[in-house]
Amino acid sequence: LSPRKGLGLAKILIFNPPHPEGKGFTREGRCTQEAGIWGTQWPPLSLATIASVLLQDGHQVRVLDCPAMGQGVDALVEVVGAFRPDLAVWNTATPTLAADLAVASRIRQVAPRAVTAVMGTHVTAFPDAALEVPHVDLVVRAEPEHTVRDLALLGDPPGAAVQGVSWRGKDGTLRNNPDRPFLPPEAIPAASWEALDLSPYRLPLKARPFLIVAPVRGCPYPCSFCTAPVYYGRRLRKRPLGSVAEEICRGVSLLGVRDFFVWADTFTADREYVHGFCREILSRGLRISWSCNSRVDTLDPETLVLMKRAGLWMVSFGLESGSDAILKRSGKGITVAQSERAVRMAHDHGVRTSGHFILGLPGETRETLAQTISLALTLPLDIAQFYAAAPFPGTRLHTEAVQSGWLRPGMEFSQGRAVMDLPGLPGEQVDLHIRHAYRRFYGRPRAWWNILSMLEPGAFRGQMKNARQFLLRF
Ligand code: SF4
Repeated sequence: LSPRKGLGLAKILIFNPPHPEGKGFTREGRCTQEAGIWGTQWPPLSLATIASVLLQDGHQVRVLDCPAMGQGVDALVEVVGAFRPDLAVWNTATPTLAADLAVASRIRQVAPRAVTAVMGTHVTAFPDAALEVPHVDLVVRAEPEHTVRDLALLGDPPGAAVQGVSWRGKDGTLRNNPDRPFLPPEAIPAASWEALDLSPYRLPLKARPFLIVAPVRGCPYPCSFCTAPVYYGRRLRKRPLGSVAEEICRGVSLLGVRDFFVWADTFTADREYVHGFCREILSRGLRISWSCNSRVDTLDPETLVLMKRAGLWMVSFGLESGSDAILKRSGKGITVAQSERAVRMAHDHGVRTSGHFILGLPGETRETLAQTISLALTLPLDIAQFYAAAPFPGTRLHTEAVQSGWLRPGMEFSQGRAVMDLPGLPGEQVDLHIRHAYRRFYGRPRAWWNILSMLEPGAFRGQMKNARQFLLRF
């Protein structure tokens, strides 16, 4: 690549745009979610990893997480006007897509020379549609860090030079440059949190500051509803353990953070790697507390004991359904028996558990919905979340939903309510069952006892307010 001609190093703004209704909102690869019942706003990992590579190159970087800071579009535009970036790059998500893309016009008004670029799973799957929106110059497809690095070096709209970019030529035609190969594990950057105000990010139930660390990218499993393979690929890429541990050390020593969410598409898929991760934490004497997500078929008692010794306090499982038939059809590749075994094993070892369920997947009936709710109630889960099946672009579920005509006309995309009418199961039925599931799960004294026993005193008032608001919706 030729460096920016005559411009020197660039001024780059990387941001999460405001939620259209001013809500807390996380846009992080396959995970897009409202702050929800626990009011969780994730530290914006992808902004921090992009910042990391840009700062290394010496650029002037500004990072903004508008939903976390309570900033609306006017506040964002004010920052853009004052900073006058050469390049503005921002995350988008399916539920907020129209508003996310519309930000481009506002940026152009105050920074007419800025190149505008959007990223995220939706625009990765449908770059052409994003480029139809006025003043969106580029789409950064899939893993963003090194694509943004090349854009920053190049300055002007990239032509064919930058892999992984879609753009509009001077003649107005839309062009999709070749895909960028996924980064080798050792090149996946550690997050650079120093450019962010971390005060809005508080661990649910604990109200302590926390950070996300992502040791692994990619997922080999073929779940029909998940965008992970589209964004980070199908190969499990495990960062060197020393680099992950140093990232944690920096969080502890520089930022004073002791709580971490170990986020990966499938963190526990490689047992040896997980053991190595735990040993690295223990050998460095890192006294941290962490939670992680996991698959129910990848945990064993020995691993769990080691993880707990290294600071694990909660594990989140994608349990998805209480029906083996639905699990099989969705490609999840687990069984209800495995879910039961894993949740009970974690519970018996004194690790808190969180279960995530999807209602309204293809093949769902009232009976299978009842099985899912029953599973949630019978397992010793501390927390449960129930989502409507969401056909994210780029997934097999999306293709099937479009081809089968399941999408409900006029519905805004959401994981909180059904956007599909399945054969024999209208979306309203799924919504009813979601409400029913929440009422049943959190209507039990045991659920509240579990939550109260996890709450730290400083978190009590805030969490009770969040929980009350959330439950009033149901
Ligand atoms: S196991 Fe399935 S749901 Fe989990 S990250 Fe991989 S593809 Fe997504």
